[in-house]
Amino acid sequence: MAKTALITGISGQDGAYLARSLLGRGYRVIGTYRRTSATPTGRLDELGIADDVQFVDMELLEASNIRKVLGKLMPDEIYNLAAQSFVGLSFDLPLYTCDVDAMGVLRLLEAMREVCPGARLYQASTSEMFGHAQEVPQRETTPFCPRSPYAVAKLFAHWSVVNYREAFGLYACSGILFNHESPLRGLEFVTRKVTHGLARVALGLQDTLQIGNLEAKRDWGFAGEYVEGMWRMLQQEKSDDYVLATGHNASVRDFVNGAAAAFGFHLEWSGEGQAARGIDKTTGRTIVAVDPVHYRPADVEQLLGDASKAKAVLGWEAKTSLDELIQMMARADYDRMKSGVVRF
Ligand code: NAP
Repeated sequence: MAKTALITGISGQDGAYLARSLLGRGYRVIGTYRRTSATPTGRLDELGIADDVQFVDMELLEASNIRKVLGKLMPDEIYNLAAQSFVGLSFDLPLYTCDVDAMGVLRLLEAMREVCPGARLYQASTSEMFGHAQEVPQRETTPFCPRSPYAVAKLFAHWSVVNYREAFGLYACSGILFNHESPLRGLEFVTRKVTHGLARVALGLQDTLQIGNLEAKRDWGFAGEYVEGMWRMLQQEKSDDYVLATGHNASVRDFVNGAAAAFGFHLEWSGEGQAARGIDKTTGRTIVAVDPVHYRPADVEQLLGDASKAKAVLGWEAKTSLDELIQMMARADYDRMKSGVVRF
């Protein structure tokens, strides 16, 4: 009989890629969405799989709702991807972020313990938990030093997963994933903001891309590969925690340079810090400008992951280079903009 996978946050980037991957493996895939979701199937439509997924509404703020859904579906595997996932917004909505990203996971663990203790859980943890990184590169044993309400909440969730595994014997994994991007990334995240904004500049729909801190360095991989690592974590004899990363990092400025080149611009930079401007050498036009409004009260300077444990135990490694990722995202945004079909 086909295994049942429950994916919370099916409407997000990872939910879409994971659903496609699990459907390909013969799973019955059930995705949870919020009744208030603006685009519950936009990304699934883009991948052409919306009709193959079953949907159930579930809200991580509501314990009784979670218990009811788990009791009714009795999933074999639960992938908890739902979260208020935008670091910047977590400074404006710290309590809400904590309620969803920290307490929401505890509600899920409690429901699982009561209703379906035999299920396997993947929790979407994040490299942001390393924050002001205590060593380079960061691995599973690196001490955490979160720098945002989002990271603090995710760290609570991470330790809750470890605790429920140790205390109640649940099969629960925390996947500490470094940034992973794709054409399905949300517009609020810097990589997509860059490819979407520069596609609009290239098509004459706007003059300038406004951006925040250009010097932050991140380890960026392709989301389509990271969901494979999530699945592998749930197929082991014992549950454990794993870092997934590429092992390379680059600055936001590097990403902007790569994306600009993908659209045929040749960027030259003038000015420093908040006065930095990216000028297209061919036309002399400023097409990138820094706007401090996008700065965070506390930022993470650089993240770089070491995924050797995932490679050794799960046989997982990132394959897509940053350049390939940029090309993929730039092309998708350009094509969407040209065709006028922008679903999210
Ligand atoms: P995403 O695109 O922002 O998707 C988040 C999902 O969570 C959406 O489906 C959203 O639904 C749902 N959600 C938000 N609040 C909810 C609530 N209160 N109850 C139920 N569902 C709720 O995020 P993603 O990039 O796919 O990331 C998936 C997970 O991995 C997230 O937990 C994120 O924090 C974590 N993560 C991501 C990365 C990365 O680089 N992408 C790295 C490390 C960890 P709506 O459509 O209703 O908003």
